[in-house]
Amino acid sequence: MAGLGEVEGKSQSEPPNSSNEINHAVQVADGVFFHQGDIDHQGHCNNGWVVFKDYVLVIDANFPSGAQNILPKIRAITPKPIRFAFDTHHHADHAYGNQVMVDNGATPIAHTGVLEEMKRYETGYYGGKPGRWEDTAKTRPDVAASRLKPPSVLFPRELYFDDGEHRVELIHLGIAHTHGDAVAWLPKERILFTGDTCVNGPYNFVGDGDIEKWIGTLDAAKALNAQAICPGHGPRGPASVVEDQQAFFRQLREQVGALVQARKSAREIRAAVPHIGEELKARPQINRYVSDGLAAQAEKVYQEMTGQSFPDASQTAQAARHLHRHAHALQSV
Ligand SMILES: [Zn+2]
Repeated sequence: MAGLGEVEGKSQSEPPNSSNEINHAVQVADGVFFHQGDIDHQGHCNNGWVVFKDYVLVIDANFPSGAQNILPKIRAITPKPIRFAFDTHHHADHAYGNQVMVDNGATPIAHTGVLEEMKRYETGYYGGKPGRWEDTAKTRPDVAASRLKPPSVLFPRELYFDDGEHRVELIHLGIAHTHGDAVAWLPKERILFTGDTCVNGPYNFVGDGDIEKWIGTLDAAKALNAQAICPGHGPRGPASVVEDQQAFFRQLREQVGALVQARKSAREIRAAVPHIGEELKARPQINRYVSDGLAAQAEKVYQEMTGQSFPDASQTAQAARHLHRHAHALQSV
């Protein structure tokens, strides 16, 4: 499809309540676009892009196939060069498309924590044993056909793009989904692109983050007073999406914390996970966040509270890893 026919000009005041925007570029404000990735079939993250006077800033590089998916959609909207690709964090589905972005003229940009995380996990790239990239390449042809490209423009806290018309503030609000998350904040339009600091659906992977600190970081996100949220996964929505995401983690911590307080054993708490799931599912504000990853999320909370893992931790970790692979569709596409 060519031209603006691909773009659905829906106003940000009418947030979708279904998945009917998947794989469509939606204009959420003048020159500001949101693209909901197909996580279930392709593992793709959501993207955004902002058309400045002289260039385009893309939010998240996605997987290589996700980058290939959105580039023609951006080109159908504007002839301006795609000059920057902002990685909200280091994960495959947000940063592995960096090389595709570079091949198309864009420079990857990220918070310094993204590079630190890559040095920790992408051991293959940095001369050590095979790391996450090599592991992911085994099951994703798009990754196998590309290569890791760490961001080369880095900011320790904030970086602003401002041409008088548009202003985008890239901000590290704190530790959340990883130790290197940053958001893209558009103060004029009051739109927040959150990366995976906030998702809208059963997509929370907590293995690389810190749930207690995450809750505080979501307070910082709330303080921006956004009126529209473009999450890392799931449909866009109103400001309450950030509150819902935070409420999910708060209530998960309350549930696990009550059992810790009651001096239940790790084994007992693990056995209580299905019950915790029922408790959380009974709450309309947060039930959409309850996923098969709940055991791993509960274990993460337990680890943060006690410093200990669930028994047979390797089994739980293996299951979480399997779920993560599934959640991010790391199998072939
Ligand atoms: Zn993600």
